Amino acid sequence: MFEVSVEETFAAAHQLREYKGKCENLHGHNYRVRISVAAEELDRTGLVVDFVELKRQMRAIIERLDHTFLNETPPFDVLNPSAENLAKHFYDEMSPAFKTGRARISSVKIWETDTSTATYRPSEDVTEPRA
Ligand SMILES: [Zn+2]
Repeated sequence: MFEVSVEETFAAAHQLREYKGKCENLHGHNYRVRISVAAEELDRTGLVVDFVELKRQMRAIIERLDHTFLNETPPFDVLNPSAENLAKHFYDEMSPAFKTGRARISSVKIWETDTSTATYRPSEDVTEPRA
């Protein structure tokens, strides 16, 4: 199996709801996001996926989150803006583009700080059709 990854950073403020501790107060993070894509076989060019295309998709999502207050930015106006939910959000937004292809998103990792990360990995047997 092959796996490639791209990383980007963005800055945003958030405030965890229903959380007792420092993170319930308004504060910001310089988030780092890593999207990893895996494939059993390479395409004819010898690639898992084009880095340029992968970064383009990732930046489109970051564009909506960068320099915002996440709690006021959908879907985090409803969903708690935890690193875990951010990771799942990137997965949900990007995975439809990979549903029919040879490659799939294997994981999304979010760094809130240099030493704290959350990772979302889809279940192996998830092949639910998307409307
Ligand atoms: Zn925080």
